[in-house]
Amino acid sequence: MSAAKDVILPVILPGATLGVMGGGQLGRMFVHAAQSMGYRTAVLDADATSPAGLVSHEHIRTPYLDTTGLAELASVADAITTEFENVPAAALEQLAQTRPVAPAGASVAICQDRAREKAHFVGCGVDCAPHALIDTPEQLAAVSDDLLPGILKTSRLGYDGKGQVRVKTRAELIAAWDELQRVGCVLEKMLPLAYEVSVIVARGRDGQVVHFPLQQNLHRDGILAVTTVPAPNVTEAVSQQAYASAHKIASSMDYVGVLCTEFFVLQDGRIVANEMAPRPHNSGHHTIDACDVSQFELQVRAMTGLPLVEPVLHSPCLMLNLLGDLWFPETDGQPATAQREPDWAAVLALSGTHLHLYGKSEARAGRKMGHLTVTGASPQAARATALQAAAILGIAPF
Ligand code: ATP
Ligand code: MG
Repeated sequence: MSAAKDVILPVILPGATLGVMGGGQLGRMFVHAAQSMGYRTAVLDADATSPAGLVSHEHIRTPYLDTTGLAELASVADAITTEFENVPAAALEQLAQTRPVAPAGASVAICQDRAREKAHFVGCGVDCAPHALIDTPEQLAAVSDDLLPGILKTSRLGYDGKGQVRVKTRAELIAAWDELQRVGCVLEKMLPLAYEVSVIVARGRDGQVVHFPLQQNLHRDGILAVTTVPAPNVTEAVSQQAYASAHKIASSMDYVGVLCTEFFVLQDGRIVANEMAPRPHNSGHHTIDACDVSQFELQVRAMTGLPLVEPVLHSPCLMLNLLGDLWFPETDGQPATAQREPDWAAVLALSGTHLHLYGKSEARAGRKMGHLTVTGASPQAARATALQAAAILGIAPF
């Protein structure tokens, strides 16, 4: 969509129906935000029990590329967005023939491919990890020793650390590429991280960009575990550089919607972009309870042409991801065999706790079942409560 065309699109007001491709927890929280503003919602997801499908006015149960399902979504929805970055860009392009779609398929296609994503960072003048593309045995053989030790990542369809293998030697690299079925990959140099941060921006159809305060993220086993805002270790210079980079990354692809960029802050203080997600992001879930406007509401505003406002963090907070492991507590080092519900009552007895569960009936190790945001009068108070909640739930201290 060209900027000129975007500007003349009418504002889509409450009462209209907003469509979302994908029925996961991000779609569910988007649906909650849209409905609280008076929109109707339609979710397209093949899973009859998808978290967003369960709470939406309409749920179209087809695969993402099913032309009948897409036609039905386009007929019921006045504007359409996506909650899952692996929705095929072709599906978004089909929808865009008759309806406003934000973000556009072309933007999502860049984020779906690590090689294109890195080329986009470089094109924006934003540093990323030294890397090499590996699509062929020749490229594998030509990899520079400088990139080892490194992480071999599939170019497409990776998430939560899946599709990644850490390699120290050339022999391990060769074995890792075999393990990943020799699909297109990016080998990244392993960098000495001091900590990880992310910036969520929203960009409107008119090109206005607003951002949330920087988040500091702790990952465990490649999965986000804890987000802390304000970011405790970040200097003003690093924050400003991250904001400027995130704005540029969004604007230079004429992005419309919410976009998250993850950054590494290195031990020498440099900052490099890791990856981006063309949608609301797990590191922004605290915005529901700790900011005056949530990332999901900004997605609604951006896609409908409503005004964007600079979000304000009104409470220091931490967000703890609630993974399925918590439903199988360990005794004597062995995980329980039967699923049991964590002690929500004990957690909710702590003031400043905000529980979000996604309506998934089956808990599995590593599966995102919900999150807990803990707000406090000060960063120290929020952290103390979050540590108490973590102890109750069986989350290791941070
Ligand atoms: P997501 O769920 O965020 O999409 P992902 O599977 O796409 O995750 P990455 O963000 O690429 O994975 O990597 C997961 C984690 O692995 C990072 O957050 C970081 O902790 C670590 N990591 C990734 N790349 C590097 C690197 N080049 N150097 C050091 N650590 C890294
Ligand atoms: Mg990541």
